[in-house]
Amino acid sequence: MTIAENVARIRAEMAQAARAAGRDPGEITLVAASKMNDAARVREAIEAGVDACGENRVQEMLEKQAQGAYEGVPLHFIGHLQKNKVKQVVGLATLIHSVDSLALLAAIDREAEKRGLRQEVLLEVNVGGEATKSGFAPGEVAEAISSAANFSHICVRGLMCIPPAGRSSEENRLNFTKMKQLFIDNSEKKYDNVYMDFLSMGMSGDFSDAIACGANIIRVGSAIFGPRPYQTTET
Ligand SMILES: *Cc1c(COP(=O)(O)O)cnc(C)c1O
Repeated sequence: MTIAENVARIRAEMAQAARAAGRDPGEITLVAASKMNDAARVREAIEAGVDACGENRVQEMLEKQAQGAYEGVPLHFIGHLQKNKVKQVVGLATLIHSVDSLALLAAIDREAEKRGLRQEVLLEVNVGGEATKSGFAPGEVAEAISSAANFSHICVRGLMCIPPAGRSSEENRLNFTKMKQLFIDNSEKKYDNVYMDFLSMGMSGDFSDAIACGANIIRVGSAIFGPRPYQTTET
């Protein structure tokens, strides 16, 4: 299967999942999770019509960016972001999906202020409560969102999660539904610097379930590009 064929198949599955849930397929953004794929393959995915590219590693992103890999689509940062790399990501990524601490939120805010811009971010939620995964606990999300009011160079646009790997469709849906509820609960409150409209969840193995449960951004890697040399979610 070529990248173009894969993207076409994923689009068809997205449309089917959206329609089954009574949703408009056009409201769902397909982000190509392009880690470990070179600039030429990323270009192929863009030509095949993905809506955005998402990268996990800062160095890899900068190298591919210098090669013009992402021209024509927004670039998202979806991996674990260390505070000492914030400088290189703020302003380059239109959306940072993976803000997992208030310290990171503060560091992004400071860098965005220096550059005179407002950085859009999502808060990552450790929905499965996994010890090995970063992210806010579900119970911490409300407080994290309210503290965004202190950060005038950030706009919190929503939530993101990576549920526990290798679970059944039923278990995935429980986690996705929990995320959707958190998203709704926190969308109803009105805070400065918060405009909750994105729910980023669903990857190659579970994006149809995520769409059924309300995702409007999915991040798909191996279903577009084929298997990676080392399968990892780089959280
Ligand atoms: C790699 C990655 C994906 C895509 O994973 P696939 O299972 O290959 O679709 C999505 N989100 C994040 C944060 C990732 O690191």
